[in-house]
Amino acid sequence: MPPSVREGSPRLRPAHRGQPGHPLHARDAATGLEAARLLALRAASQKEAGKPFTREGSMAKVFASEKANKACDVAVQVHGGYGYIDEFPVERHYRDVRITTIYEGASEIQRIVIARHLLAD
Ligand SMILES: Cc1cc2nc3c(=O)[nH]c(=O)nc-3n(C[C@H](O)[C@H](O)[C@H](O)COP(=O)(O)OP(=O)(O)OC[C@H]3O[C@@H](n4cnc5c(N)ncnc54)[C@H](O)[C@@H]3O)c2cc1C
Repeated sequence: MPPSVREGSPRLRPAHRGQPGHPLHARDAATGLEAARLLALRAASQKEAGKPFTREGSMAKVFASEKANKACDVAVQVHGGYGYIDEFPVERHYRDVRITTIYEGASEIQRIVIARHLLAD
């Protein structure tokens, strides 16, 4: 086993612009997650105010789950082979996040819900 795995710290090579390990990809993932957080807060505030929140909830769910999937995908890619073995938590995050676009209303269904609301407005 490579020393870096035994020590629990994968050695990351500097990535070129456009490669998943490049900081630009981490920046995009972080931006997406922050936007997802705001959509979730907006849906929550609608509910707290006693207003309809189905459309906002569907927008938050589909956006957040897809951004989380993208962030985990980038994380696996950044780690290379180490992202695929169970000695690092990233492979677990990758497996766990996949279900989020399926359960509690799959992405396709959330999109149908959103479209119905837009057409009704
Ligand atoms: C681990 C796990 C936990 C779950 N927990 C919950 C829970 O807590 N609460 C809950 O309510 N449900 C839960 N579910 C159920 C989950 O919501 C359903 O699995 C999901 O809605 C997909 O339905 P289905 O499995 O019947 O697949 P199907 O309805 O057969 O759908 C299969 C695929 O086709 C797509 N699809 C279906 N209809 C359309 C359409 N009209 N247009 C476009 N695409 C379409 C779906 O989006 C999906 O990708 C859970 C499922 C799993 C696997």
